[in-house]
Amino acid sequence: MQTLLSYINGQWIRPQGSVLAVRNPANNQAIAQVILGTEAELELAVSAAVEAFETYSQTSLEQRIHYLEQLRAAYAARLEEIAEAIRLEMGAPQDFALNAQAASGLAHFDSHLQALREFAFEYPSGASQIVHEPIGVVGLITPWNWPMNQLVVKVIPALAAGCTLVLKPSELAPLSANLFAEIIQSTDLPTGVFNLLHGDGEGVGQELVKHPQVDMISFTGSTRAGKAITKAAADTIKRVTLELGGKSPNLILDDADLEQAIQQGVLLCMSNSGQSCDAPTRMYLPRPQYHQAIEIAKNTAVSLVVGDPKDANTNLGPVISQTQYDRIQALIQAGIDEGASLICGGLGKPKHLRADLVDGHYVQATLFAKVHQQMRIAREEIFGPVLVMLPYDSEQELIEMANDSPYGLSAYISSTNRERALRIARQLRAGQVQLNYPEWDLYAPFGGYKQSGNGREYAQWGLRDFLETKAIIG
Ligand code: NAD
Repeated sequence: MQTLLSYINGQWIRPQGSVLAVRNPANNQAIAQVILGTEAELELAVSAAVEAFETYSQTSLEQRIHYLEQLRAAYAARLEEIAEAIRLEMGAPQDFALNAQAASGLAHFDSHLQALREFAFEYPSGASQIVHEPIGVVGLITPWNWPMNQLVVKVIPALAAGCTLVLKPSELAPLSANLFAEIIQSTDLPTGVFNLLHGDGEGVGQELVKHPQVDMISFTGSTRAGKAITKAAADTIKRVTLELGGKSPNLILDDADLEQAIQQGVLLCMSNSGQSCDAPTRMYLPRPQYHQAIEIAKNTAVSLVVGDPKDANTNLGPVISQTQYDRIQALIQAGIDEGASLICGGLGKPKHLRADLVDGHYVQATLFAKVHQQMRIAREEIFGPVLVMLPYDSEQELIEMANDSPYGLSAYISSTNRERALRIARQLRAGQVQLNYPEWDLYAPFGGYKQSGNGREYAQWGLRDFLETKAIIG
């Protein structure tokens, strides 16, 4: 069984912490073990990054473009291995692991490289010269649900900006992060610029956040951890950028193509087994079309195959862990107890699960109707394949319901009337509003309002987060 070490100052290091089994959520079998970092290795990693910053922060734009192009080529060469690691560590179906999860890394290399080439690092303003400089040593903490996507949208802009870094990936999905460190090792990037330290959140994660020589923390994960990180960072006044949870509303207007809007809404909510922060998990429907909409949604949800991520016809793999499985089940139970109407799916694993998969964490694609705004299933992030459907009577009520959430990551509108959709979009408190399920825009800022966070990632927006601003006056 593979033992995952940490990569610090160009060396593979065996940390002194405890050993944690990495489990394949498809069958709950241990597939590797990761050794958790301690303060001792954190000191090594931060010192390496501090030392490397002296020279790396002074590299030319051309030099950094060269490193990123080299990294992109090395990443592309190992794309299938990355996809396989993601399938094993978090259960994404094979095709999705390759063409969505792993491939997202390549797309981000391209958009960040373009942003880097176009970015104005220096310009005159009034009597001053404005200079954007790398913020310093950065700590990057990432989750398991899009393990490579979340990693690259931090590592690439940090390197592009001229920062050096310590990455702490999720302890539940550390395989793909190790591959990324091997890719780094195969390039010319100077040692100490990129350091990978495995560990858990409460342990080495908190210590990284508190470290006085770490100038910034970029975090993606739960709102719960985001709050703990904000508090732990306070004493050192470092910059903290947060990409947190969501409960994104999907507004279906009465002029939308109902069939298409609902089918796509269900698929997007269930995709990645519901484990996407910006999943459209609250679907709002005009009351006259509510019953018809439920039928369409049900037909779409029951057609989804939940099963082995290795099978070509699988749509939904397992969720990441027993803990997440139990949490999702408890929320489904809460929906039933609070009087919502279960349309399909529900408690327990899917029937007819193959014998070798029964220990995997499979959740049925679940729909709830007769949901009202105050139910837990309408308010809390479930992070599983569960969609709630709510009726509305007027546009004003729709906007109020959509905004009635502690979160504000994304919102979705389906309508054939662009002016009307834009008018509503401007009133929604969300970092992204997607009209009629557009293509993925790698150049659009990604981040949240309210308790969904404060940073903005992707391309030039991500680059900005890792820069300080200096005015040279006179
Ligand atoms: P999590 O918060 O449990 O863990 C995320 C990372 O933070 C892990 O590396 C973990 O070890 C670390 N961590 C946990 N507690 C910490 C602490 N107190 N101090 C320092 N580090 C800590 O989240 P998760 O379960 O891995 O991921 C799921 C969550 O991430 C969901 O809420 C989801 O919505 C959110 N998410 C948000 C975005 C976004 O861009 N907004 C993207 C993906 C996932």
